[in-house]
Amino acid sequence: MVTPAVPVRVGVLALQGDVREHVRALAAAGAHPLEVRHAAELSAVDGLVLPGGESTTIGRLLRVFDLLEPLRLAIAAGLPVFGSCAGMILLAREVLDAAPGQPLLAGLDVVVRRNAFGRQVDSFEADIDLIGVAGGPVRAVFIRAPWVEKVGDEVEVLGQVGDRIVAVRQGSLLATAFHPELTGDIRIHQLFVDIVVRNRGRRGQYR
Ligand code: GLN
Repeated sequence: MVTPAVPVRVGVLALQGDVREHVRALAAAGAHPLEVRHAAELSAVDGLVLPGGESTTIGRLLRVFDLLEPLRLAIAAGLPVFGSCAGMILLAREVLDAAPGQPLLAGLDVVVRRNAFGRQVDSFEADIDLIGVAGGPVRAVFIRAPWVEKVGDEVEVLGQVGDRIVAVRQGSLLATAFHPELTGDIRIHQLFVDIVVRNRGRRGQYR
């Protein structure tokens, strides 16, 4: 883990979903967390978490709060983003079983199926080994979760449940179909904070 002299500022998109849990996990991982609701707040952070919740609602609120375009631009310019569950859906290039007209941020070169596990079991937990996360498997909580059906060439698969892909990384974009913010295990948040720290030198590009 890289320990920065000045903590990186990591935003949590705070329109809907489990914002507080991510704020707590980021602080425990050594970052300075900030809630983001407006474009000005977005330009003040070094990285951003898209929380779990309901991707259709978060997408609609992104429009209402005039954040959709600024966020797309920031991601295209290299802002590190971690999406969990609904956040993974928002980050995906393509979503199967999306709601009609559902807005997406589309930075991550994956095809995700929304509510994929949800049609089988609404919620379940599993222990998963993740590439890039040392110290044994993480306990993963899935709640009406998506899975990843296809990954682009640049995307690294970090973890699976059986043959289903549930954690991926593409450069400074990280996404999990599950909710690491709910377990008290902060190793995935630490991984993301490390990504943000390593990226900090380049932040001028997306401001
Ligand atoms: N099924 C939800 C959606 O489509 C995601 C669920 C979650 O974030 N726990 O956004």
